[in-house]
Amino acid sequence: MDIISHGLWGGIALGRSSRKSFWAAFLFGVAPDLFSFGVVFVGGLLAHGFEFFRGMGHRPDVSQIPAYVYHLYNLTHSLVVFCLVFGVVWLLRGKPLLELGAWGLHLVMDIFTHSSAFFPTPFLWPLSNARFNGLPWVDPLIFVPNVLLLALLYAGFFWKRRRRATPGSSA
Ligand SMILES: [Zn+2]
Repeated sequence: MDIISHGLWGGIALGRSSRKSFWAAFLFGVAPDLFSFGVVFVGGLLAHGFEFFRGMGHRPDVSQIPAYVYHLYNLTHSLVVFCLVFGVVWLLRGKPLLELGAWGLHLVMDIFTHSSAFFPTPFLWPLSNARFNGLPWVDPLIFVPNVLLLALLYAGFFWKRRRRATPGSSA
């Protein structure tokens, strides 16, 4: 899935209780891509300046992607690593950090929306190299329902919040 959708899904699924909770869930939702592809983006920008933007808009050549990005991708896109971190944070706090679940949600969505051709999700790394050959998120079959569903959920969320904020509107 694209990075913005990941943030929006995280926010609406696990950050509805307050503004702070929303942004925390949003950030945990975008973090796996931010700390893998985001590094390529910043690196490319630093190395090539604004020329870098010329190459954007089409899928990058996978052979041109530096090896460290694959390592970062394994680390940030593993359900094993996520469960470990979620568990440790739970132990340290004495209660689960729900917003952190947006990271797990990101992974579950990526498993089914990346094909073997482009960064299939290494969800069992480092225990297994198993990857699922999903339907890429750029496919209209995924992309269009995704945008529609997000728009619907957010419209419902803001409508409900407005109704609660306006006294007497529930009558
Ligand atoms: Zn991802």
